[in-house]
Amino acid sequence: NAPLAELDPEIAAVLDGELARQRDTLEMIASENFVPRAVLQAQGSVLTNKYAEGYPGRRYYGGCEQVDIAENLAIARAQELFGAEAVNVQPHSGAQANAAVLHALINAGDKILGLELAHGGHLTHGMKINFSGKLYDVGAYGVDPTTHRIEMDEVRKRALEHRPDVIIAGWSAYPRQLDFAAFREVADEVGAKLWVDMAHFAGLVAAGLHPSPVPHADVTSSTVHKTIGGPRSGFILSKEEYAKKINSAVFPGQQGGPLMHVIAAKAVAFKIAGTQEFRDRQERTLRGAQIIAERLSQADVTSQGVSVLTGGTDVHLVLVDLRNSSLDGQQAEDLLHDAGITVNRNAVPFDPRPPRVTSGLRIGTPALATRGFGDAEFTEVADIIAVALRDGASADVDALAARVAKLTADFPLYPGLQQ
Ligand code: PLP
Repeated sequence: NAPLAELDPEIAAVLDGELARQRDTLEMIASENFVPRAVLQAQGSVLTNKYAEGYPGRRYYGGCEQVDIAENLAIARAQELFGAEAVNVQPHSGAQANAAVLHALINAGDKILGLELAHGGHLTHGMKINFSGKLYDVGAYGVDPTTHRIEMDEVRKRALEHRPDVIIAGWSAYPRQLDFAAFREVADEVGAKLWVDMAHFAGLVAAGLHPSPVPHADVTSSTVHKTIGGPRSGFILSKEEYAKKINSAVFPGQQGGPLMHVIAAKAVAFKIAGTQEFRDRQERTLRGAQIIAERLSQADVTSQGVSVLTGGTDVHLVLVDLRNSSLDGQQAEDLLHDAGITVNRNAVPFDPRPPRVTSGLRIGTPALATRGFGDAEFTEVADIIAVALRDGASADVDALAARVAKLTADFPLYPGLQQ
């Protein structure tokens, strides 16, 4: 029972180093967030010891009284939060949730249609070497070359050509809302089921700041760790008619024992997501992304070949287009990293540069909103990023890093926490 620092100083040093990194930099990876202390506590608990194959009240192991309470709470809270008919909170991750969705809805060899990976889709929506690309016959729709938006005429055209069994609406890198009712119409027209993957924008949906896919989709999947800001994991919402199939696709179809410590932490995250404080945070998240899009659209930046895809955002992220900039995605990511801002380079649609380099950046605001940032701080961050991208190789990185350091000092992360 020796403490970690004594038993394994090497791993203890990693934890300390990572806490310091998170505290001392500005986290702007759109898929990341900072979980509350209560989530860390639930996740780092003795529930990790428990096997609980099956579902509450129907387990294949004894001693599940306590974990049943946790899983039932997680289910009830998700049900209430999203107005879902049925909920499965067992997927270990977003990708596992998605594997279970396809496993439940269709058979190997059947057809799926999703957003092109290079246009902002996800690996699990049909990428060639992902399970989804290997097991299913994949078709894709892309964004419009001029507007960079998903146009429903194009989705319909592709659906009529490919005749999919499942249409997937959802994205990993797209700055606009989707028209779920229109997706439903197309799905009905071609006799497909509609699956929405709201992994990225689920927190905005929970807060009522983004249209909900749940009334339109047969099945909706999500992660818990992006805008929701809970533990790294997934969950699935469905119409009642798919509930049994989804449950058996998750267990025993895809997984063995559920991670009960993570499920308890999901219950905590869903409880928080029902609060006014959470809604305020999602509002600051959206405002922050808008402020960054506005600042990066000013003439001093656009004159250097930097622009914002679709001209703005209505979600928690901004996609920066560097196709006409002397900086590529890798250089821009490195430059911001040197200033203390963490973002990820991201291919833009019709990207002429290779995927390892790219011509884009994906900049997200959820983690900084959780850290407490409001309009004033997001304006300062937006200006730091704008100056860096404008000045490129000649940017005064030390001056930018000093501005970042002031922000991190003013908004301490996990005050008092020691691991
Ligand atoms: N679905 C979408 C749309 C995503 O963006 C992601 C994560 O990037 C996932 C699913 C997969 O989630 P995970 O990384 O938990 O497997």
